[in-house]
Amino acid sequence: MTAQPPEAATARYDLLVAGADLIATMDAERTEMRGGWVAIRDGRIAALGPAGHEPDATDTVLASGCLVTPGLVNTHHHIYQNLTRAFAPALDGDLFDWLRTLYPVWSRLDEEASYVSAWVGLAELALGGCTTTTDHLYVHPRGGGDLITAEIEAARDLGMRFHPTRGSMSLSEKDGGLPPDSVVQDDDEILADSERLVHRHHDPADGAMVRIALAPCSPFSVTPELMRRTAELAERLDVRLHTHLAEDRDEDEFCLATLGKRPLEHFEDVGWGGARSWVAHCIFPNDAEIGRLARWGTGVAHCPSSNQLIGGGLAPIREMRDRGVPVGLGCDGSASTDCASMWVEARGALLLARLRGGPAAMRAREVLEMATLGGAACLGRTDIGRLEVGSVADLVCWPLEGVAFAGALSDPVEAWLRCGPIGARHTIVHGRPVVRDGALVSTKVDEMLRRHRAIATGWLAAATA
Ligand SMILES: [Zn+2]
Repeated sequence: MTAQPPEAATARYDLLVAGADLIATMDAERTEMRGGWVAIRDGRIAALGPAGHEPDATDTVLASGCLVTPGLVNTHHHIYQNLTRAFAPALDGDLFDWLRTLYPVWSRLDEEASYVSAWVGLAELALGGCTTTTDHLYVHPRGGGDLITAEIEAARDLGMRFHPTRGSMSLSEKDGGLPPDSVVQDDDEILADSERLVHRHHDPADGAMVRIALAPCSPFSVTPELMRRTAELAERLDVRLHTHLAEDRDEDEFCLATLGKRPLEHFEDVGWGGARSWVAHCIFPNDAEIGRLARWGTGVAHCPSSNQLIGGGLAPIREMRDRGVPVGLGCDGSASTDCASMWVEARGALLLARLRGGPAAMRAREVLEMATLGGAACLGRTDIGRLEVGSVADLVCWPLEGVAFAGALSDPVEAWLRCGPIGARHTIVHGRPVVRDGALVSTKVDEMLRRHRAIATGWLAAATA
């Protein structure tokens, strides 16, 4: 072994992101650096600084003309649904109609469909500047195989940081729930599989690439008993809890009629009110309920596009943020939003907040905070969502150039969301480019799209036969 002077050993980096127009670090001081660079070693940010004194590295990506931000965190999604995007028979229904139409189609989900839909869905997210995503996979048809392990393999193959949640449904039509029998499981089976997946895949360590959370689907598709036992299991395994909450007015009526209480009261009564939980949508909490979410530290995944497409309503995000509720962003879908771009969701959050509360209600920097630090808080992580020495090297270079950004000279962060549309020039996850120069680094895109089309075609044929 050749001895090296200590300077040489510490001066060498794996990857250098150089020449950015601006780096918005999202560190505690919200430091922004003009002409900045980021040096990465072993998947971590090892150094960063403003223009000048850029170190050597084995590989360099140029970020000239770019805003560099932490990678965006997607806190709510149903990736497999990209097999039924913009599904013609279900375009105009409300949430419950939409679900009733699609549940039987989704009952065809198997390991191949889970792997391929996850690969394509994660690739789409990476192109849109996402580096960490959750997935809420709640359809586990009998004989479908190990769907969550299949999608974790897709995330590993692509290099994305992944928090799949073990979704579940146990309350079928015959018991007063919404889904058909073919896609529900019994409580013991769900809990045993949840525990198996946590033992097999969950990595609690700082810098983890895979973590599992437990996620009964919604008040109208699981029993109160399953909610309660899932919360106990999550406590014992020290993993997080996720579900849909207060997404629709129908849900208020369902809960009042069948449980005699509002969705959030039910949520509390089954032991979910706490910092271990984050919930999707949360459009209809009343003022007192927002206070309870804040007191508990329960996170909210705000899903602007899905809420608009389903005609749900305007979530009270301003009030939640002001009272200290951790709020992240989610693209939801893929058959309720149909498009999975975290940039689109970030812009949607900006527009909806200002539509609801006026022009002072939201600015781009606050949306960036929700999309990064807010998402990290929902997932219980402090190692992602910021660019500082020691945090994992998840970052995005956004090109603020060309026709769409002409004239946008005074504030790159505001321009990032007000101009556009825009995708990532480079998306780097754990120090490795997943998107480089606007294209996926993987050479399997065409093959995956072929496999995806074959499955989607088969599902559509069966649904319309
Ligand atoms: Zn959802």
